[in-house]
Order: sequence, then C-alpha cells, then structure tokens
Amino acid sequence: MPITAVFNRRHELISYLADIKLKNKTIGFVPTMGALHEGHAQLMKQSVSENDVTVVSIFVNPKQFGPNEDFAKYPRTFQNDVDICEKHGVNIVFAPTIEEMYPQTFYTQIHVSAITEVLCGAHRPGHFDGVTIVVLLLMNLIQANYIYLGQKDYQQVQVIKKMCMDIAHPTKIIMVTTVREKDGLALSSRNRYLSEEARKKAAIIPKSLALIAKDFLNGEKGIDKLLKSSLLELKKENLIPQYLEFRKADDISQKIENIITENTVVAIAQIIDFEGKSTRLIDNILLGNDSASTKVLEDLISKSL
Ligand code: AMP
Repeated sequence: MPITAVFNRRHELISYLADIKLKNKTIGFVPTMGALHEGHAQLMKQSVSENDVTVVSIFVNPKQFGPNEDFAKYPRTFQNDVDICEKHGVNIVFAPTIEEMYPQTFYTQIHVSAITEVLCGAHRPGHFDGVTIVVLLLMNLIQANYIYLGQKDYQQVQVIKKMCMDIAHPTKIIMVTTVREKDGLALSSRNRYLSEEARKKAAIIPKSLALIAKDFLNGEKGIDKLLKSSLLELKKENLIPQYLEFRKADDISQKIENIITENTVVAIAQIIDFEGKSTRLIDNILLGNDSASTKVLEDLISKSL
C-alpha cells in the first residue's frame, strides 16, 4: 500500500509540491471536510487514475457554516480518513488547522453573485462565500491541474466553476457523478446524523427525484406534471421540501417554470425531522438528452422505485 504523506502546515505542502511540479507531474486535488465515505472515494479514485499525484484536503471549514449550523458537531474521523486515502493511493493529505488557513489578519472575501442567491444560497446566507474562499485558497496552495468535485453538491460545483472562469484560474474542474446507497440515498457525511427511522424517511428524497426522472424519460417535459407525483410522494411522509426546483443546468440563476427545453438540473433540499433531531439533506439530478445522463437516471430509478 502506498504511503500517504500528511501535512498540517502550508509551507510543508508547498515545498513538497514544488519538487513534484519541477518534475512536470500532474496534480489532482480533492477538497473534503473529512468523515470520508464512498462518495469521496470515487473522487479520489478518479483523481488517482488521471494524475501522477493526488492531494486530498481534510478541513472542516468554519466559514461555510452558519451560526446555527452543525460546525461543532460535524463528524470528525481523522485517522479513518487517512486510512481511506491511503487505501485509494492518495499521495498527500493536507489537514490544516483553522489558524493555518485563516490567520488572525485574514481579511479577504470572495463573492460569486447570482448563482449563489438561489437554492442552498437562499437558505444558507454566506455559505458559498465560505466555500469560495476556502477552495480558492486551497487551489492556490496546491496549484493542481484538476480539481474533483461531486455532483451531489451541484450548486457548489457551478459556483466554483464560475469563480474559476471569471478570475481565469488555471485549475480545471471535473464533476463526478453522485454515489448512492442501495436505495438511492446520496452518500453524505451528514447521513451519520440519521436514526434508523429518519434514515428510512430520507429514502423518499431520491425516490422523489426518481419519479421525476421516470416521467422525463417517458417524454414528459412540463414542470407541473413532472412535479406532481414527486410532491405527492413527499407529502405521504409529511415532508415539505425546503426547495424542489428545476433550473438551467449551466446557469442555475435561471429557474425553469413551464417546459423543459434544455439541459436542466432538478435540485432538492429536505429537512428530515425525527424525535427532535433535524438533518438537512440535498440531492439533484440532471435531465439531459445524452446517453450518459439517461444511464445515471435509469440507475437512480432502478435503486429508488
Ligand atoms: P464534503 O466533505 O461533504 O465537503 O464533500 C467533499 C467532496 O465530496 C465534494 O466535492 C462533494 O460534492 C463530494 N461528495 C460528497 N458526497 C458525494 C457523493 N455521494 N457522491 C459524489 N461526490 C460526493
């Protein structure tokens, strides 16, 4: 098994990578907040297979959590995370402290507008500013050829993509398809919060998307009709989504209200309340006409329906 180097300090990472760059090796970067699972592993596998060197960052970024969110209780499983990285052939784990990332005199912010104001951005004020500053800082430290991001966080991918485009950042973005459990639930570090009963309820989230996918593959293009059985399914479990929206896949600031005429993302956020505990989960699907997206939808349908 390859040995993974673990660095906590920026200067250690920079000097290690300087040598790698001198040798003209390609670098793949997978940013994470730890509590690693098969979803993260998929990003690692793709990076390892496509690059000479893979860097995984593990950093629970306080700037992307709101004051009433789960920063303090976010799962931290560092040694297990390093083992997973090692198992997948990751070369470097960068696990900085908060002070290492944000010294007391850290005054900079990065703000992407429009596409951060909808979906999760509308419900988590400041969240994407926290995401963009941490990802840009990490990207500047690592200077990777490619950054690997999961489709599960579709809005995050779009925001990082737009930031990189607007400021001409040289790292290229690769989006990796969502990894799901047997019943279709998207893997997430936050699934650990779910009790057995809440976990059962959470399966309605992929099911609601699968119902939309099924009607879409059968030729339905009207939003009202596509939403109907999905909302009904959620209602049966007393679930009302925080949002369930159709948006233009390549410009999520634009909501699709009537008929689907182009590549579309259907995004959902659902709070699962059970016995006084509340867990917010997100998921999405891409409705496209190419065979790759059809295959992903068929896979979701076969798991969830
Ligand atoms: P996180 O640790 O939750 O910040 O996630 C780190 C990266 O892993 C992000 O790019 C996520 O989109 C990605 N990721 C998380 N869950 C999944 C999943 N189920 N499938 C694919 N990628 C995922």
